[in-house]
Amino acid sequence: MPKIIHERERCIGCGSCISICPEHWEMGDDGKSSLKGADKKGDIYEKQVDDLACSEEAAEACPVTCIKVEK
Ligand code: SF4
Repeated sequence: MPKIIHERERCIGCGSCISICPEHWEMGDDGKSSLKGADKKGDIYEKQVDDLACSEEAAEACPVTCIKVEK
């Protein structure tokens, strides 16, 4: 199953992923984006999805490349 991965420590809170893909992303209280419903594994957040959809565009738009997708 496809997976979305967020290296949240590196997020600078630009908001691009939230604008592009609000289905999966929201702004956290600390000014960094959060991957909705993700599991935390160490410093990494990840979740499996049926369809990556807009997540690939969000990953491409992230200025610090802290979003990864696995097909
Ligand atoms: S696009 Fe990248 S840097 Fe910007 S809020 Fe999303 S995860 Fe953070």
